Amino acid sequence: MSNPGQEKTLAEQAPASYECRSCGYVYEPAKGDNQTNISPGTLFTDLPDTWRCPVCKARKTQFVNIGAKGAPSGFAENLNYGFGVNRLTPGQKNLLIFGALALGFLFFMSLYALN
Ligand SMILES: [Zn+2]
Repeated sequence: MSNPGQEKTLAEQAPASYECRSCGYVYEPAKGDNQTNISPGTLFTDLPDTWRCPVCKARKTQFVNIGAKGAPSGFAENLNYGFGVNRLTPGQKNLLIFGALALGFLFFMSLYALN
C-alpha cells in the first residue's frame, strides 16, 4: 500500500485484446492468430508491423485496445479484502449478538434461580 503506483488491476496484468475497428475481429494474445502463424501468447504490440487483420486485412493501426477479456476489473488485493470483510463481519456480529443474548438469558435465569 506504500507504493500504489506499482499496483495493477487484473485487467492490466492480463495481456490486452485488440479489436479491429473495420470488421470487429478481436485479436486475443492467448490465442494468437494461426492464419498468419502468430503463436499463442504473442502480445498485440509484439506483432510485426506487417501484420494485418486476418479478416479484412486492416493494418495494426486500425486496431483498438479493448483490454483483457474475461479478467475481473478492480484490484486483486481489494477483492480479497472485500471477501474477507464480507465473511468476517457478519460472523463477528452474530457472535456479539448471540453472546449478549446468552449472557442476558443466563442473567435472567439466575434471577429466577434466586427467587
Ligand atoms: Zn478487420
